[in-house]
Amino acid sequence: MDIPKTTPLHMKRILEGNRRWVKDQLAKDPQYFEKLALGQKPRYLFIGCSDSRVPGSGITGTGPGEMFTHRNIANLVVHTDMNLLSVLQYAVEVLEVEVIMVVGHYGCGGVAAAASNNQYGLIDNWLTNIRDVIRLHETELLRIKDDEERLRRLVELNVIEQVRNLAKTTIIQNARKRQNPPKLHGLVYDIREGILKDLEVSTEDLNEFQHIYQRDKAVLTAGTQVLLEKLQQEDNDYQAPAAQQQEEQPQPLAADASQEEPAELALNSNGKQTGRRA
Ligand SMILES: [Zn+2]
Repeated sequence: MDIPKTTPLHMKRILEGNRRWVKDQLAKDPQYFEKLALGQKPRYLFIGCSDSRVPGSGITGTGPGEMFTHRNIANLVVHTDMNLLSVLQYAVEVLEVEVIMVVGHYGCGGVAAAASNNQYGLIDNWLTNIRDVIRLHETELLRIKDDEERLRRLVELNVIEQVRNLAKTTIIQNARKRQNPPKLHGLVYDIREGILKDLEVSTEDLNEFQHIYQRDKAVLTAGTQVLLEKLQQEDNDYQAPAAQQQEEQPQPLAADASQEEPAELALNSNGKQTGRRA
């Protein structure tokens, strides 16, 4: 299909590129577009950064039809983000994707902005989600002396926390009750090398808090019961030495049976102990 003569110059680059791509695809497979038009059954959901250097299909070598995609600044999974939740719900419950990956990248401008003291406007509210990651991992980050190394680690920690956020959503919690729930992965992309690294994020630690995130009465009750027993045990452990101390307290000096009443300690107005008799 020819490009209209009225097409402005800045769009010619896009349309010409499109025509070239169509030609290449048809050369490889004349039915390519007819097959794609039948519908999609992607195996993967990609949650990545909006950064123009990190296109999901490009860096994973996947083609159209293979990867459902959601991108935002700094690849965040925010529980009030209706856009992300809609993509996630559709991907998990309708498309039944097998793998969900959160993909961050070193040199992420969003992560660097969150770690800086500068103000950027409205986006600072979005970046606050990354500052929460800093708060959670401040000790580890402060121990890294090299600035670039610290930012690289923050990129990784951000991915790890977003995978955990993913696991907490009602959509994934419900999917985990079914057979073969989607597998969650956290990856980081190195722009300087083009290599993707799997961070092998474990969501096992969420099991301890499952009774909070899973909307299931049985789990909720059992989990709360475990927590209550733990708290009761802590209370008992705390009270035990105090009780022991009381038992070991020396008997009042006036243990003489001839004395009418035992001595009693009280505080005077200066806070000093003073002996008095009732
Ligand atoms: Zn980025």
